[in-house]
Amino acid sequence: MTDRELTIVSLYPRDMNIYGDRGNVLALTRRATAQGFSPRVVEVNPGDPMPESVDIVVGGGGQDSGQGRVALDLGVRADEIRALAADGVPMLMICGLYQLFGHRFVTHQGEELTGIGVLDVETLGGTERMIGNIVLDTSEFGEIIGYENHSGATTLGPGSQPLGRVVQGAGNAPGAGFEGARTGNVIGSYLHGSLLPKNPALSDFLIGEAARRRYGTFTPVAADSDLVRNARASAKKRPR
Ligand code: GLN
Repeated sequence: MTDRELTIVSLYPRDMNIYGDRGNVLALTRRATAQGFSPRVVEVNPGDPMPESVDIVVGGGGQDSGQGRVALDLGVRADEIRALAADGVPMLMICGLYQLFGHRFVTHQGEELTGIGVLDVETLGGTERMIGNIVLDTSEFGEIIGYENHSGATTLGPGSQPLGRVVQGAGNAPGAGFEGARTGNVIGSYLHGSLLPKNPALSDFLIGEAARRRYGTFTPVAADSDLVRNARASAKKRPR
């Protein structure tokens, strides 16, 4: 059944790709293949058209300067991305793009970057950097393990739910107790690392929702491996 194509859009890989975020696209591609699909990755940088059919959208983090560049382009395609999100296209946005998928990000210098409001969050740049290994507890994906590095402090409105409860680390803001945000099938998170290689349950969520939307069904194949289990265990043991 490898003829079932899934188109993965890698959003702004040129500007928004730090701390190994590109690994999310690689992990997703591998996992989709293991789940019996033919993944096709389309990189969309500022000015590039979206492919005609979009099954999954993945975006990463960046410096404030990179965020400024992509915020303008994101504004131009806001309606298109909102429509895809409303249609159930699963998306994973890390750090800088998590912030820009919210309503706005105000940098620590007071510059306001307008977001596209797919997630009901807003972010204020702070002086305290939240850096280190982080562990979350989630009801849907089990334990999530990653690495955070941000100074933006994010607050959620009623239209988004947190991705998980912080077991170790900071999360959305100092003392927030929660990390990430989710509205429908769109997930925003501060977790780099890369996130997906160590958290296949999240990859399977993205692939499963995409497959159900395009093909009507998804029968997951157990694809966990010792490699993943060892990577999770070793990342979890690392000090903050
Ligand atoms: N500029 C943002 C912050 O520090 C994004 C950081 C990132 O994407 N790693 O909060």
